[in-house]
This record gives sequence, structure tokens and C-alpha cells, in this order.
Amino acid sequence: MTAVPAEAGPRFALVIHGGAGTIRQAGLTAELAAAYHAGLRAALTAGQRVLADDGSALDAVTEAVAALEDNPLFNAGRGAVFTSAGRMEMDAAVMDGRDGSAGAVAGVLGPRNPVRAARAVMEHSAAVLLAGQGALDFCRAAGVAFEPQSYFYSERRWAALQKELDRRSAGGPDDRDDADRHGTVGAVALDTAGNLAAATSTGGMTGKMPGRIGDTPVIGAGTWAENGACAVSATGTGEVFIRHGAGHEIAARMRLGGQRLATAAAAVLAEIAHSGGDGGLIAVDAAGNVALPVSSQGMYRGVAIGNGAPRTAIYAEEELAERS
Ligand code: ASP
Repeated sequence: MTAVPAEAGPRFALVIHGGAGTIRQAGLTAELAAAYHAGLRAALTAGQRVLADDGSALDAVTEAVAALEDNPLFNAGRGAVFTSAGRMEMDAAVMDGRDGSAGAVAGVLGPRNPVRAARAVMEHSAAVLLAGQGALDFCRAAGVAFEPQSYFYSERRWAALQKELDRRSAGGPDDRDDADRHGTVGAVALDTAGNLAAATSTGGMTGKMPGRIGDTPVIGAGTWAENGACAVSATGTGEVFIRHGAGHEIAARMRLGGQRLATAAAAVLAEIAHSGGDGGLIAVDAAGNVALPVSSQGMYRGVAIGNGAPRTAIYAEEELAERS
């Protein structure tokens, strides 16, 4: 366990994201932008409350991600996108930097909060990643809360799928706003005991092939937490983040190469961009430094350092003062 000296940095820190990509100003009305900011603030407040009470980073990221899953604006839990077959298949993961324990679910529809399903896998099974029907059977037996399909359905996501299927059959260009195409939610935290944790949850990509699993539940790609190094949650072109082992690569650059968090995070995102992947990630290190690099037009994101007021942003150029 890595203890943080009181004067070395903030006692605790929380960073969240609600997905990255092309976010056109024209498509985002002032009213909708305000709703995104409010959703991000509510999630930050939920996690910050846990950390302020000396709760664990693991509980903080679970609560922050659950709040984003409950909000149909974000592509995770309620309001998740549809596969090409018109179903929802959700992925989620959690990781505890204290001991490297991790849990994840893939391709599930039913658990009200996929992040809590991932946590149940971590805490009540010998597995790290459970998929499909086996994951659902396990979650039911473990007492995870379920909801009917209608709970997760949103008109907006259904319309986005119909538009995408029409586009594919007509063979037109793909000019969708990324909020209609994909998205993810995630959180990383440092707690007052100096422990790090990460959690990520997604519905994946609109019109994805049934059975396709992105980087979110792949430990070391979309989700990683390692005390002494950093905690990372990613969003973007999942296949490229998987091929780069994004989260683990950032931690390895710090642990083996002595790189600072901001340097390692920016370098890995640049390599991913070079390979044709775009998106962003959030990260926090053992001293409470945070990094939120974005390689696309925007990323719904927010930061709460100690008991400071939560700060949120959407477009890439917006500044969220970072310590690094
Ligand atoms: N990374 C997610 C996936 O590939 C999508 C996203 O973050 O937008 O499933």
C-alpha cells in the first residue's frame, strides 16, 4: 500500500468521464449541455462523498459510475446503445489498486448497474471476466439488482440505431455525432488511505456486431488500477485501446520508465491516435495528480480534488486545472 504524505498532495481525488468523440456545438443545445454538466456533477458528488468520509477509492468509483449508469444521457446502464440486432449488450469493469483484484462483465443486459455486477464478479467469484448468460446467472445468484429491458430502453438510442442501419443499407458516409455512435462512463480515484481504483461501464458502439466486446471490461486496456502507479479509465475506439493495452501501458511507463502521469497518459493516447484510434482517458496517480487527455473533439469529464467544488467540461479545449 502506498501512503500519501499529507503535504505531498490532496488527501483524495476523483476524476470521471462520460465518453469522448465528435461533439458538434450545433448538436449540443445549451439545455442539453447543462444536463450533461449536471449529470457529471451529480456523479462527482456521489464519489466525493465516499472519499470525504474516508471511504475507499473502490467504493467511490463504484458510486460515481453507478450514478452515470442511472442517467440515460450516458451510454451505460440505462440509455445504453443497441447492437445491429436491436439488443443492448453492456460491458463493465472495476479494479482495486490495493491488490490488483478485478472484476468485469461483458455482453450483459439485466443488471441495473453493470458496474455493481462487475464488482460482484470481483468479490464473489474466482473469475475476473464473466460474459453472457453465465454472467447473468452468477449475478442473480449473487443478489445483484436486475431491471426489465424496458428500464434500459431510450427512444434516442433506438432512433440512432435505425438511422445507422438505414445509412448502412444506403451506403452513405458516416457523419454521426459520436454521442449517437458510442460512449462510455468511467471513474478513477485516490482515497485518504493512498489507495487507487478504477471503474468503467459502457453500452459499446451503436449498431455493433452482436457479441462484440470493447476495451471497457478488458483489464489493462480500458480499465486499470495499480497502487504506486496510477488508475486509468478509457473511452474511444475500443479495439485500438485493447491492442495498445492502454491502461497497463500508462502504469508500466510510470513504474518502469519513471514517467510522470501526464507524460505517460499523453504518450499512450498519441500512440493510439497514430494507430487510428480516437477518444480520451482519465487517470490519477498516487500523489493525487490527475490527467484527462483527449484526442477527439471533446470528452464529457469532471474532477473533484479533496473537498473542492466539482468541475466539469465537455470540449477538448476547455481547461480543468490539473496538477501533474
Ligand atoms: N470504448 C468503448 C467501446 O469500444 C466505446 C466508447 O468509449 O465510446 O466499447
